Amino acid sequence: MVRDIGLTSDDRTTAPTSDGTAQAGARVESLVDSLRRPLRDLRISVTDRCNFRCTYCMPKEVFGRGYQFLDREKLLTFEETARLARIFVQQGVQKIRLTGGEPTLRRGLPKLIGMLAAIDGLKDLTMTTNGSRLVDLAGELREAGLKRITVSLDSLDDTVFRSMNDVDFPVDQVLLGIEAAREAGLWPIKINTVVKRGANEHTVVDLARHFRGTGYIVRFIEYMDVGNSNGWRMDDVVTAAEVLAMIDREFPLEPVAPDYPGEVAQRWRYKDGAGEIGVIASVTQPFCGGCTRARLSADGRMYTCLFGKMGYDLRKLLRSGKSDEEIEEFLRSRWSARKDRYSELRSARTAPASKVEMSYVGG
Ligand code: SAM
Repeated sequence: MVRDIGLTSDDRTTAPTSDGTAQAGARVESLVDSLRRPLRDLRISVTDRCNFRCTYCMPKEVFGRGYQFLDREKLLTFEETARLARIFVQQGVQKIRLTGGEPTLRRGLPKLIGMLAAIDGLKDLTMTTNGSRLVDLAGELREAGLKRITVSLDSLDDTVFRSMNDVDFPVDQVLLGIEAAREAGLWPIKINTVVKRGANEHTVVDLARHFRGTGYIVRFIEYMDVGNSNGWRMDDVVTAAEVLAMIDREFPLEPVAPDYPGEVAQRWRYKDGAGEIGVIASVTQPFCGGCTRARLSADGRMYTCLFGKMGYDLRKLLRSGKSDEEIEEFLRSRWSARKDRYSELRSARTAPASKVEMSYVGG
């Protein structure tokens, strides 16, 4: 067992409470990994299923009718998920993002949100969704304790959008979902747009124009080589620099300082004061050095990198009666041994044999 858990005296912090104040008597020694990166964020995939078949994520040829999704009994229960989340928060996690698959497909999701929102010390709880079910669910999610949300939306052009989600889902329905989220009080709302060459780069400026001056923050994401099924090629990546140049030509931009160290998106604002956008240059300017994220798959495996292969089976620990302390020890040993920095080592020729699928581990 790894015993050196990478602690230093200056990494010792006091556990914050949900209102941000220090909690007396609950000193938590925060972890760092072998590259001195703390554990701050947890992404929880609540299902590996999705109602979209985005060509860059869950292409139909792979995720078709015969595809074997996780059986129900393999999924973590809400109680198991919340227990793990609490242990992660005690180890320094401040922010939890629910994702998938499509998280809104998980039955009873508001109940889980309520359980997570009640965790002492958690500062931020959010969710990434394709927006398809927000018209029905936004109010319930907000009432359960969700504060803000990120909606994926690759184009406003209905034809382009339908062909990218590959299930003929209309863009209007997602726009209504975004509106419903806003009306329910989920705010701020971020819009995630993956830009893929030949698919939607010609609609980038329209999207920026639509959301300028509205308070929504669009973040343009470089198409990544996650998983093994999307047939990724470097040629298909529209770089963040290209996206910025396209938008800047029409609406001049200037950089904004990051909100916090290790922020994934680079922030830019319109010089005329119409708000801001972000770019996530995970391929051309990897940010492994600032990566403070762990991921939990719907069946309870912990991954310390989006490009991981195996993960660590926490469900086994939960279901074999391990105590919180034993799970905590396991988590600390794995995080302190962490040395992943896949994106920094990637080259155009990289084609590792088996990476975990994004729909499984959560985007
Ligand atoms: N179903 C939800 C959604 O659509 O937002 C959550 C899961 S999805 C995997 C999370 C995010 O990952 C989405 O914004 C999606 O666009 C992004 N994504 C998926 N595959 C990607 C890829 N190959 N490169 C970059 N981003 C990707």
